[in-house]
Amino acid sequence: MTVESAPKKTIDIVVPAFNEEACIRAFYERTTRALAGLPYAFRILFVDDGSTDQTAEECLALGRTDPRVGLLRFSRNFGHQAALTAGLDLADADAVITLDADLQHPPEKLPEFIAAWEQGAELVSGVRRRASSMSLWKRLSSALFYRFLNAISSSKITPDAPDFRLLDAKVVRAIRRLREQSRFLRGIYSWVGFRQVEIFYDEENRKAGGSHYGTLDMLFFALRAVTSFSRAPLRLSTYVGLCVSGLAFGFGVYAVVQNVVFHQVIRGWTSLAGLVSFLSGVQLLTLGVLGEYLGQVLEESKQRPLYLVAESHLPELSAPKRASGREPPSSDA
Ligand code: UDP
Ligand code: MG
Repeated sequence: MTVESAPKKTIDIVVPAFNEEACIRAFYERTTRALAGLPYAFRILFVDDGSTDQTAEECLALGRTDPRVGLLRFSRNFGHQAALTAGLDLADADAVITLDADLQHPPEKLPEFIAAWEQGAELVSGVRRRASSMSLWKRLSSALFYRFLNAISSSKITPDAPDFRLLDAKVVRAIRRLREQSRFLRGIYSWVGFRQVEIFYDEENRKAGGSHYGTLDMLFFALRAVTSFSRAPLRLSTYVGLCVSGLAFGFGVYAVVQNVVFHQVIRGWTSLAGLVSFLSGVQLLTLGVLGEYLGQVLEESKQRPLYLVAESHLPELSAPKRASGREPPSSDA
């Protein structure tokens, strides 16, 4: 390793944690071991997303023995995406790494991420080669979802790339400028561009506890992804509306001709009833799609902060860099 007189490059590691008391210490140990000996100044920033267990206490205890460990505690649970956002807002390093506290993202891969960054990559993404004990249902629905999303949106999102990333400071600054409420960071990473590199890894089983994302959560996550990254469903409802109105008009003409020319009044009731219910179905569906987008506009227009900070214990930040055009974390309660 070369000995440099220049100050070491800095790397901040952002770790969202929600009820992960049993994982924090193991995470810390494996991560510091994986990075030991590398010529960088590291900090580990845990973002406690409103945990109700001892997660924050575990992080604070680590911080007392290792000054590189910091904690940001949210006032309540704001979700994984908000926790990652807070970490990106606070980080103040040449590169930022994000990974899960449950050790499903092996920290031993980080030297490879850093090497790719040193070779010029601006955004390094971990891509899952072997999924852990993920159920067949979760794997299948996720694969189908990404295929669908990529078909209808202009940003291409790599399937199997969760939030296991290394971002150059440039990318972090770019992402800080996107303050949308309805956050889907995987889409945002793809949208911002930059030189991207993918690194494969084998996902491990969760160290302790269970996943916080059930099928319903995944469904809402998917809906958020679609409505924030594609307007195709809106357009689709217009097309379906047009087609169905055309058909309905044709049927109206047919009904009038039947009545006036052939005096057939009672016959056709079945088709009429069928048509009415079909049309109401299409209308409700269209209204639902509109409602989803309108709801999103409403959320955005409130311009609420993406998270609220209750407590922050941060390792020393290099003061001059803090003025780098970033918004301070919102801590107004
Ligand atoms: N997480 C969080 N807030 C939440 C849910 C999860 O910060 O509301 C964290 C969690 O502690 C973990 C990461 O996000 O570090 C991924 O969550 P999880 O393991 O539950 O999701 P999965 O890996 O099953 O998709
Ligand atoms: Mg997990």
